[in-house]
This record gives sequence, C-alpha cells and structure tokens, in this order.
Amino acid sequence: MCKHFNDNGSLNIKEIPRDLPTNVKPFEYHLSFNVNETDFTFKGETVVEFDVLEPFTKELNYLELNTSELYDVSAKLLFPVEEEATSIEEFAKFQKTRFTFSEKTLLSLKKGDTIKLAIKYGGYLNDKMCGFYRSKYEDANGDIKYQFVTQFEATDARKAFPCYDHPSIKSDFTIKMESIKDFVHISNMAADKETIIGDRKITIFNTLPKHSSYLVAFCVGDFVPVKSNYNYRVPVTTWTVKGSEKRSQYSADFTSKCLEFYENLFDIPFQFNKVDSILCKEFSAGAMENTGMITYREGALLLDPEQYTIAELQRVSEVIAHEVAHQWFGNLVTMSDWTDLWLNESGATFWSWFCCNNFYPEWNVWESFITDSLANAFALDSLRSSHAIQNDSCEPDEINQIFDAISYAKGGSLLRMIKTWLGEKDFVAGVSSYLKEFAWQNATTADLWTHLEKISGKPVKESMSIWTKNVGHPIVTVEEIETTETEITLKLTQHRFLKTADVKPEEDEIVYPIVLFYKTEANTAEGTFDTSFTFNTRETSLTLPVSSSKNFYKLNGNESGFFVTKYPESRYEILAKQSSLMTDDDKAGLIGEMNSLCAAGAIKTSTFLNLIINWKSESSPAIWNQMLVALGSIKRAWFFEGEAVMNKLKTISADLAANKLDELDWEIKESDSFNLKELKVSLFSSAVNNGNAKYTKKSLDLFHKYLEDETVINPLYRDTMFTAVALNGDGKDYDAVFKIYRKNDSRKIIALKTFTRFEDKQFVDKTFELITEKIILPQDIYIALSMIGSTPEGTNTLWNWLKTNWDQVVKDFPPSLNMLSYIVRICTSGFTQFPQYDAVKAFFAEKECNGFDMALAQSLDAITTKAKWVQRDGADLAEYLG
Ligand SMILES: [Zn+2]
Repeated sequence: MCKHFNDNGSLNIKEIPRDLPTNVKPFEYHLSFNVNETDFTFKGETVVEFDVLEPFTKELNYLELNTSELYDVSAKLLFPVEEEATSIEEFAKFQKTRFTFSEKTLLSLKKGDTIKLAIKYGGYLNDKMCGFYRSKYEDANGDIKYQFVTQFEATDARKAFPCYDHPSIKSDFTIKMESIKDFVHISNMAADKETIIGDRKITIFNTLPKHSSYLVAFCVGDFVPVKSNYNYRVPVTTWTVKGSEKRSQYSADFTSKCLEFYENLFDIPFQFNKVDSILCKEFSAGAMENTGMITYREGALLLDPEQYTIAELQRVSEVIAHEVAHQWFGNLVTMSDWTDLWLNESGATFWSWFCCNNFYPEWNVWESFITDSLANAFALDSLRSSHAIQNDSCEPDEINQIFDAISYAKGGSLLRMIKTWLGEKDFVAGVSSYLKEFAWQNATTADLWTHLEKISGKPVKESMSIWTKNVGHPIVTVEEIETTETEITLKLTQHRFLKTADVKPEEDEIVYPIVLFYKTEANTAEGTFDTSFTFNTRETSLTLPVSSSKNFYKLNGNESGFFVTKYPESRYEILAKQSSLMTDDDKAGLIGEMNSLCAAGAIKTSTFLNLIINWKSESSPAIWNQMLVALGSIKRAWFFEGEAVMNKLKTISADLAANKLDELDWEIKESDSFNLKELKVSLFSSAVNNGNAKYTKKSLDLFHKYLEDETVINPLYRDTMFTAVALNGDGKDYDAVFKIYRKNDSRKIIALKTFTRFEDKQFVDKTFELITEKIILPQDIYIALSMIGSTPEGTNTLWNWLKTNWDQVVKDFPPSLNMLSYIVRICTSGFTQFPQYDAVKAFFAEKECNGFDMALAQSLDAITTKAKWVQRDGADLAEYLG
C-alpha cells in the first residue's frame, strides 16, 4: 500500500488513491473514549505522533488518516507548532480524512522530524457488529442490556479512531476510557490507573507496544470475572455475564494451558501482562484474537461442565487454541499485508489442532483434521472460483471475503504437508526461528519459507511458493504399466483438478512439486511412508516394490499431501479389500478423494458406493464421518431429483448407521473410549437424520421425558434428540423447543437449529418473522437460513425470501461484513439444476456484487458441479439403487 499521492492540485475524487501518504509513519497513539451508553455515541480524541520519513512537497502538503463514520471532526497540530487545521476534508468513499495546515507548516519539516496531531470527533456505537459497537442482550431477569465492544479486523479500527489502518503499520497505543462508574473497562493491557469522579469512571491502560490497528481492542459493560484455576504466569480471566459464571470456567483454565503450551513450543514467552477472554453477546465472527483481550461469541467460549456435547467441547477448545496461537502467530509477528492473511489464519488453524492434540490425545486430532479442515479446503479449492492462498486483495470489501476455507484450511493443510515433509522437529524449530526474528514486526510468506529452509536444508521456498501463489491443486492420475512378481511400475501424470471437470489449457499451466508420500507393503506395519520422492514434472514413472501376493501400494500416505489421486478403476476394488493395510488417516482420505472424483466424473458413483459398503465394519469415527458426509454429498446433488431416489439414498445411510449402532449397543457407557463415544454419537445422529424409525422413536421418547427431567439423557445424545424433534415433532414440541431457546442457556443454539428446521409453512414463516424482529440475532441468521434450506422446498423458499428482501438484507449486512457472503451462499448453493443456475445468475446480473462476488461465483460453481454430476451419473446411480 501507501503510494505517494501525486496529483496536480485539483482534486478529482476518482483519482484519489485509497492509500495514505507514505512520507510519514505513525509510531504512537493516545486514544481517549467517552461513552454515552444512552444515545449510543462516544466522544473520541486521538493524539497521533508521526515520524517524517520524506519531506512534504507542494503537492503532498497535508496529513491523512483512515476514518469511517466519524462526525464533528476537528484537528489541531500540537508539534512542532500549535496550529488548527485550515481544512478538514473527508473522502468517505475512500474512508479517509485529509488535514491541511497553513502552507509552510508541513513544508518546513525535514526527514527525521516528528509531528503530533490531535483530532477530536464523535462516533457511533453502531449495531452492525464492527468498529466500536453495541452488543445487545437480555440479562438473567429478562432486562435488555448493552455491552460496548470493538471488532476491528479487517478495516474497522477507523470507525473508532482515525489511524493508519493497515497491518504493516505498528505503533504504540495508550488508551483512556470513560463511562458510567458501574461499567467494567477492559482493553488489551491491564489498567494502569482507574479513578471514579462523581458517577463517572476513568481508566488509563498500560501502553500496548508495537501493534497493528486491527488488533487494538477495548470494551465496557456489566462483565463478571471468572479467574483461571490453572496457575499461569500472568492473570487469565474470562469476562462473562451474570448467571454464566459456571459455564465460563473451562475457557479461563484452557486459555492458561494454551498460553503455557505455546510459549514452551515456540520458546518465546508470552509478552503481555494479562489475558482476558470476553463474552460478546452479539458477535459477527467466532472469535477475535486481539492481544490480551480476546473476544468470543457465546458458542465459542462457554461450556456447561455438566451438559456439554463432544462437538461443543471440541469447538470451544479449538477456537481458544486458535486465538491463543494468534498471540504469537499474527499478533507478535504480523503479516505485512492482507495478501498474506493466510499466514495468520492458517498458522492459527494448524497450531490449534497441534495444541488440542497435546491436551486431548484421545481425540485423534489429525484424523479429524482430514474430515474437517482438509475436506473443507478440497471442497472450495476444487472450484474454478477458488483463489490463491496469497491473494492480491487489498480493498476492504475484498479483504473480508478471503477469510475463507482457503486462507484457513488450505493453508493449514499445506502446513501439515510441510510438517510431514520436513519432520515435526525441524518444522517447529523453523517456525520458532521465524517468530524470533520477526517478533514485534511484520513478515511475509517468503520469510517463513526462508526459516524452514534454513533449519531443514530442504528447498522449501521454491516448492512452497508454487503451492501458495497459484489457485487450485493437482490430480495425479495413475496408470499401472507393468507388474512383475516383486514390482509394479506406474505412469503418473498431473493436471489441475476441477470438480466441474472442464479445465481449460490456460488453467492448467502449473506443474506442482508433489511429494508423493507413497506407501507400499513394506511400510504398512508402522504406518510409515516415503517422504523423499518429489514429482515435479507433468509426467513421470515410478517403480515400487509391490509383491504380486499382497499387491498393495497407495500414494499420499496418511493423506499428508494436498492432491487428489486417481487410480485405475480396478485398483479401487483392490483397495476396498485392503482396509487392514491402511491407517485410518489413509482410509478417511481415500473416501474424501473418491467423493471428489465421482463428483468430477473421474470414477463412477457406484464404484464409490461399493467401497463404502465394503467398509461398513470400520470402527474409526473419522472414517464413518467421512463416509456419512460423502453419502450426504450425493444426496445434496440429487436433492431435486424426486422423493423416490432421495428416500433410497437416505435408506442406505440410515441402514449403515443403524446396523453399526445395533452392533455396538447404542447406549453410551462411562467405560466407552472417547472414540467409541464419538462413533456412537455420529451413528445415532445419522440414523435419525436419515429417518431410521427405531432410533427416531427412541429420540422422541427421550425428548418428552427430557422436558420433565433434563438428567434422563446422556448430554452427548442431546443434539440428535433435538434433530428428531425438528424432523418429526408437532406444534407442542415446537413450542417446547422455542421456550428453551428463550431461556438463553447452553441449549440456545441447538434449540435454534431445531425450531428453524420444522418444515411446515407456518413455522418457516415464523422464522422469517423472528429474523425481522431480531429475536433470532443477526449474528445467528446463517444458522436459521441453513436449517430452512434442509429440504428442496425450503431451498426454494430461501431463494424467494432473498430475492424479495434483497435491499433490506444489504442494508442490515453491509458488504464489508462477511455475513453477507454467508447469506448469499446459503440461499443459493443448495440448488442443483441448470435452470436454477440461470435464475441465480440473472438475478445478480442486475446487482452490485462487491463484497460477496466470490461467494456467489463459488455458489454457481457448486450448482454446476452438482448438475453435471447428476447428468453424468444419473443412470449409474439409478441402476445401483435398483
Ligand atoms: Zn484466526
């Protein structure tokens, strides 16, 4: 960013670059805020000090700062001379304000001088969940209350204070907060001084050193502290609301443990004087890693110690581990530009799994990684509308769109690939070396590669930049060209993989350096594989030691690489029977790849279904999840092909799950291993979701008992019981669930998922009413919409709702928030047919699509994929289903 502004003096708004002048650089901010909690405004003062890096010129004779939605702005130079600004011009479209002084003032400054500027202004405590905003909630007595909190990433610090709002500009921040005396004040650093004057409280916080603006944070409100019971060097507290203290203990304790884990792992102590985790009742993202003041939505922070489900425990732990990892990976060392956002997000994603693996080895975290992060990454990256990990986005509307599966999950998957390639020891040492060199500074992707290369001696930079700078990933096609008693020779070719199976030559110019990670029968005992062979040409041949008796080999051992393998059709039949020679990671990976391959027409859907049926006696939850998800994706593609085919597909899933559950005994016992519990939960859920009569009845009976006595069920089965109610319940059940929703306890989200899934028109209409009345919180709208879209009719209803209410939706969810992308995706991506594709395309052809154009393109690609799949394999599947 930050090119010199160079015009001829006459202002033409179209020519003004968004960037700010680079001849000065801020190094220190003193920020003051005075909160008016009744009219939802604040008065602000920003005193900012700049270094002069280059002299001013006649053309560039002003200061500029990013601003957005600030009002009554006045400014005064404090140093080197005291002088009121002669003009203050806001360029709202470019989100900046220009401050001009008398002609000679800035011109007289030399390189090395400093400038001190004071700006007074007013701001809004908005209800849009960005900037300095108001977060509304009902307290335990049902009274409406507000918390006032900040969410600045990516470019909303400018809504709270004028600044150089870019990650590459790191400055010191000293914050002063004033409000009514009853409110608690929290910021990144601990309070230095707190005074009460009359009915006002004034807090001055310790200086936050060298930080990017998007990581600055503060909040005021009725927060209640829950201190960590785990003894860590600095105080760790979760700030919650009254009545939720018990549910807040886990987060305080686990945050402390994660801090200790990462500082030992990276060999760099946590650098700040406390960590607070803040429960934000209204929050657009899951959580935000602000240094020392991490903010969370409720579902990502609170855990009922007596009532949690496996999914809740894993989600809360994973999010906390992610945000704490950011304290090093993102906050201490920050990406130089949004282009390298993946460094922050993939890093935190990868380390959160790594950290959970340490605390919960029984989770088999890396197996879940395959069915979760890796699967999400493949799903998005196999669409034409995917993007490269290192993205050139710089406009605020575009930055928000790249907080997606590519920046989080594909990057995380590549880090896992590098870890396998280099070995864990070198990988961790390389990362630690990178963090040490760039602490308190900014870094680029290349900087990380340099350190990994230095430690490992492997050509990381050259290899990895191909993976991160290009969009997509390869498919490796295997031909078996010669077989002897002891060997097999393979011919391998690589091309770009697209699920729409229509790669154009110009999209297929990249040859990836693919570490093949191949396994042969020599490896099977310990689950090891070769990490030395890199396939970096379009075509190659490879001879492997494979005996004619065992006849086993597999590429991509433990699904470590980011590529899809296409074997000859006959090899899948062999692999289907070689379950015992593969690890659970291999099998989960193979199912995921085959699912993509049949969507792309590279193998027949029936081949894939045969393999799944062959593996019905598996006992790993990851394998089962992957199988059930794959069956779900077939159902999603055949969604609009009529009830008969849907029912047959449902029966396959329901029977598979129910039979296995019968075999295991469905009741969860205390003595069951974590894996077994997890498996039972998945099977029970799938059986009920797909209409198995026996388990549906059990669930409904349980629910009706549960309404009288909440202890009758094992909490691990709670969510499935609610699902059964959503699919089969009556009006009375609806009312019961809605009552639970209004209680605002730990069941709020599952209750929301339940009553919004009722299919009858009257209930769907009620959901839209609740959205309009904001009884369903705007932050949760995506949950309600997803549930409505669970059926073909619901998918049509959603689309009609979006079309009718488009103007209001854009008003409520401005394009700079990524919520709009979610809404567009949810309301369009359920379609599966070409005429539906045309309708979506035609509607948006007339609209301004800034801020969600990527989500829309991805939705359209997803529809195309499904439409082509059905067209291609309709007959094959019909024959299979009989
Ligand atoms: Zn993150």
